[in-house]
Amino acid sequence: MGPPEAATNDPGSRHTIRTGYWRSCVPLRCLRFYCWVVFCMGHGQTVGNMESLRAVIVGAGPGGLVALKELLEAGIGPVSIVEKSESIGGLFSGSYDGLFLTSSAAFSMFSDFPIPEGEANRFWTKNQVVEYWTAYATHFNLWPHIRFAFEVDKVALDPAGEWSLIARDDAVLARHLVVASGNNVLPAYPDWTCDVRIPRLMHSSEYRSPEEFSGQNVLVVGGGESASDITLEIAKVAKKTYVSMRNGPGWVVPRKRGDDAADTSTHRAFWTLPYWVGAAVSKRLIMAEEERGKTSPVLAEVARLNRSVASPHGIRGVFGTKSLGLPSAIVEHGAELVGEIVGVEDGGRVLQSRDGGRLESIDAVLLATGYRTEIPFLKEHGWKCDPANWYKNMFVPELGEKLSFVGFARPTFGSQFPIMEMQARLLACVLGGLVALPSEEQMKKEISRNDVVLSDQFGATRFRVRGLVDYGPYMEDLAGIIGCRPRMWHLFFFSPRLWLHVMFGPMQGSQYRLFGPGKKSALATSIIRSLPVSRFNHIVKTGIWARIGVFLRLIRPSENCSSGSQDRSLQGMQ
Ligand SMILES: Cc1cc2nc3c(=O)[nH]c(=O)nc-3n(C[C@H](O)[C@H](O)[C@H](O)COP(=O)(O)OP(=O)(O)OC[C@H]3O[C@@H](n4cnc5c(N)ncnc54)[C@H](O)[C@@H]3O)c2cc1C
Repeated sequence: MGPPEAATNDPGSRHTIRTGYWRSCVPLRCLRFYCWVVFCMGHGQTVGNMESLRAVIVGAGPGGLVALKELLEAGIGPVSIVEKSESIGGLFSGSYDGLFLTSSAAFSMFSDFPIPEGEANRFWTKNQVVEYWTAYATHFNLWPHIRFAFEVDKVALDPAGEWSLIARDDAVLARHLVVASGNNVLPAYPDWTCDVRIPRLMHSSEYRSPEEFSGQNVLVVGGGESASDITLEIAKVAKKTYVSMRNGPGWVVPRKRGDDAADTSTHRAFWTLPYWVGAAVSKRLIMAEEERGKTSPVLAEVARLNRSVASPHGIRGVFGTKSLGLPSAIVEHGAELVGEIVGVEDGGRVLQSRDGGRLESIDAVLLATGYRTEIPFLKEHGWKCDPANWYKNMFVPELGEKLSFVGFARPTFGSQFPIMEMQARLLACVLGGLVALPSEEQMKKEISRNDVVLSDQFGATRFRVRGLVDYGPYMEDLAGIIGCRPRMWHLFFFSPRLWLHVMFGPMQGSQYRLFGPGKKSALATSIIRSLPVSRFNHIVKTGIWARIGVFLRLIRPSENCSSGSQDRSLQGMQ
């Protein structure tokens, strides 16, 4: 969320932000209650039956839960979650029936709450992941700190630095506001859908099961993981399925390789390589995929899709699509890829795609086009929800630790859950006084530096998906600030078996519980050892090859170290 336009260059902008709210017109239905809140604040009283909290967290999805647990564990209290629904679990409580996570259990678990033996390679259903969080909330005694049926309508920060959060007929006061209300809330609709009149125009957030598309001509729009999974479900029952994408499906990887979860290969040996090796390593990965494709038409389709990725940094410059839904739908059920939709005729019965295609007799359109990142209760202040303009995707420079966000960083690979947890740990360090945030000016400089790097890495996607981060470097960055990065040389010499697991096992949260603040070494060691280690596969081999390339490159100091020349140097090694 960026500051209000008018306040951006104004040293007194904090004042502007706050007084702007008080001057703005408060809807009448809230006015009486609002005056009462202000009266109570002025007289040091509690509001309703709530005391003034140290911190309040909005949302009881995974982000809110892990934030609550970390703050409580750091002794920061009193702290509460306010949640508009009657249950925990966030968007997973209401998603489509066939939803399986795209991150394995090893990557979806939190760092200090182990999963049962043998579970690491599984992909949980939405119910299973909610069960895991329910057990987590019970284990860490979070329930007494969650207040359900409290939908935050408005927030205000008074001149003394206290937030008031206002619901329809209730309010909460707190010194710190933590927003964990999710970045998948408001469905995004492409402009052309305004002209569509066919009865079945549906966003993926409304999709529950494929039966209603049986025997129909269906267009699925979108290239992400939900689109891929839903396309396969629909293609199995539809007469004809088209899939429209603007930029292709990203880098397609299976959920599983044999019995192993494929994201075991999201290990630090590969994902801490600099992104500029992306083009060179991608070529080698595709060659290996083509080889495997000789025995499987679906894998051959995966290699074909990945070869069409337009990013100059290949696998390191695009989203990973951890689903074989799309290639399976193409190969096994005749689904057809078309370009972006640019024209609508006959109320949507006929659609034209940018590549010249004309889709006739369309019965239904399913939009897996993602979500707009908006936080309605902050919008009123004129702030844009723009994680790219928050320090570490978490803190608005003008407000520092007063306002923070958990769960608004979106990795291209890896998983969002370990990221939320790392953010929650950083927040606990900041509010607990263990880590001081840089000055407003330094935060802004760091944001600009980061912007240059990520714009080079991800190109246009960076402008579209504002919370975009590169999983490995982002985790290492936050861990560096907290002081909990695994000490690899120490492990190499004193605990080589553990080193092997940390280097070639899933790069998830427990790796950051071995050292530094928040460490739980014995628990973390046992969890890390119980997780799978990658086989000596094409990804490990490519990672080793690239690391040697990077090393050779770095010991030639006279050469220009721009990303372009580094890339060329590695490509020359093939
Ligand atoms: C279909 C789908 C599948 C996904 N699968 C994976 C996966 O496999 N692995 C992975 O790592 N990530 C996955 N993600 C991404 C991400 O992990 C999820 O979106 C996750 O739910 C985000 O958690 P959250 O806590 O930030 O937000 P949410 O889960 O959206 O929770 C936010 C909570 O805030 C509450 N809330 C919102 N506004 C208010 C308000 N005004 N007042 C009070 N409460 C409010 C909501 O009711 C909700 O309970 C997936 C996303 C989608 C859309």
